[in-house]
Amino acid sequence: MRIPLLILQLLACLLIQAQEAKPIVSKGFIPPFAGENQIIGTYCELRPNHFHGGLDIRTGGVIGRPVIAIGDGYIARINISNAGYGKALYINHPNGYTSVYAHLHEFPKEIQWFIEKSQYNLQNYEVELYPDADVLQVKQGQLIAYSGNSGASQGPHLHFEIRETASEAPVNPLLCGINMPDHIAPSILNFYLYGKDSLVKLHNGHYPSISLPMYSTHTVKKGKKKKKVNVVIERHSIAYGTYALGANLKDYATSMGDNNGVNYITIYKDGTLFYDCRIERFMFSQIRMHNNYVDFRRHKESGIRMHKLFIDDGSTLDFWKHSPTNGWFTINDSTPHQFRIVVKDVYGNSSEKTITIVGHPSGRKVSDYISHYRQTKLCRAAKDNLHELGTDLSVSLPAHTLYHDYVLNYSKNTNNTYSIGSVLVPLDKKMILIYKLSPLQLLNGNKYLVRCNDGRNYFGELKSINHYHVPVRDFGTFQLLLDTIKPTIKPLTINRNRYFSFDVGDNLAGVKDFDFYINGVWVLLNYDSKSGIISGFIPNPLETGKHTVRLIVRDNRLNEREYIRTIEIP
Ligand SMILES: [Zn+2]
Repeated sequence: MRIPLLILQLLACLLIQAQEAKPIVSKGFIPPFAGENQIIGTYCELRPNHFHGGLDIRTGGVIGRPVIAIGDGYIARINISNAGYGKALYINHPNGYTSVYAHLHEFPKEIQWFIEKSQYNLQNYEVELYPDADVLQVKQGQLIAYSGNSGASQGPHLHFEIRETASEAPVNPLLCGINMPDHIAPSILNFYLYGKDSLVKLHNGHYPSISLPMYSTHTVKKGKKKKKVNVVIERHSIAYGTYALGANLKDYATSMGDNNGVNYITIYKDGTLFYDCRIERFMFSQIRMHNNYVDFRRHKESGIRMHKLFIDDGSTLDFWKHSPTNGWFTINDSTPHQFRIVVKDVYGNSSEKTITIVGHPSGRKVSDYISHYRQTKLCRAAKDNLHELGTDLSVSLPAHTLYHDYVLNYSKNTNNTYSIGSVLVPLDKKMILIYKLSPLQLLNGNKYLVRCNDGRNYFGELKSINHYHVPVRDFGTFQLLLDTIKPTIKPLTINRNRYFSFDVGDNLAGVKDFDFYINGVWVLLNYDSKSGIISGFIPNPLETGKHTVRLIVRDNRLNEREYIRTIEIP
């Protein structure tokens, strides 16, 4: 029996209705700012090498907006760091969830004292504190911090997360009773078609793909004027084979200028649910899986982070519900197949596009040239791989560093750098470069670092007698460098109204940490890694007489610079 298409489509609509995002925590929490909470980044949004763990909330370009506790609980963790989340605060709530507030600027007195006490005890600006449940209890709506731009923040905003306390898995705050205005549906900007060619994947590191344009542009004459019009492409004729789709997706909240992530994607093939992706939960241990989820190659080539609408090899993500073929379909005759792609945000605003794909022996082919290299090593995704690339360098790729088997290409270049693998191929874990140091190099063993051609530095350590192990994040071109040069210190302000500031820098490895002493006693100063400024007020004015001011700055390769000066208070 053939069921009329209309009924099938109706059933499909009902199915979508049945998939409304279910709230995780329906009531109890309030947003982290009193007043407006404008969201400029959403949960699981595709970011460089990671899924966004929470929401980014606008602070109008300024620091110092009061942040409040979203619910009763206690401050369970405070992290003061120069990297990542910068100054961050974590509150455990009795309902089993933890709220996280990051890139903060400062804290109200009671919390600030608690932090400073620990910084003095540990004699370190960077601290990670886990107060007991009865130490810093908070009530819903209580002021807990002032928003800022600390850590790896690119501009003032609040990064806000809700995590399951036990597993630390971040969940979508918009499913936890934190509401934001959002009335615009996501949109599908363009489609791609992937061919299941395992040989291309083995050698090039990705399945071949082509763009499936939605429109073709024609020039039409209107009187004397020529005008360009877009004509919808209804059918795509492709060669027989096995394929999957990909799409560039974007979501908007209140303005078309927004650039938020899309969390719900379903595909109906000829009216039947075929692919159902719900981006609702991931673990931080899976954060690099972002590079498996997006089209990593197209991202590297064009900057666009595309959703692959199939479950790629090696994924451990848990986004997919009913997707029996993992998103792949086979075209082996001339029957037209309809693909209806529906994208939805967490509030159910949805939009869709339908494309028809038809098989033809002379239709478009999806293929790639296989690059052949002079020197290669076959690496297995499921096994530990150890390969010698030269007399002075071996490479180790532990099991599941790669998402799939890969023919690794490499070369030693004339400037003594090594090019290893393709930058278009993602790594989940770190690849370890193992340099065999000569007796002469060994004299400076731990002062070596590896610079990647993408600008990043990697630091290693001597493992066995002459093996220097350097874990690196990505494939690329690597150079072993020596850093024996001390950091620089330039005093800017010395004791003006108790204020001290220094401009510090380092030639190669970068500043790691510092200590500041007055008359031999450790005193807390702040370090802003973005500006390279160490600064702060000392707790008490200096008494009349002579005082010794001493600053020690260390780089990441144990080179140390000392600045000493005697000042006299009249
Ligand atoms: Zn963020």
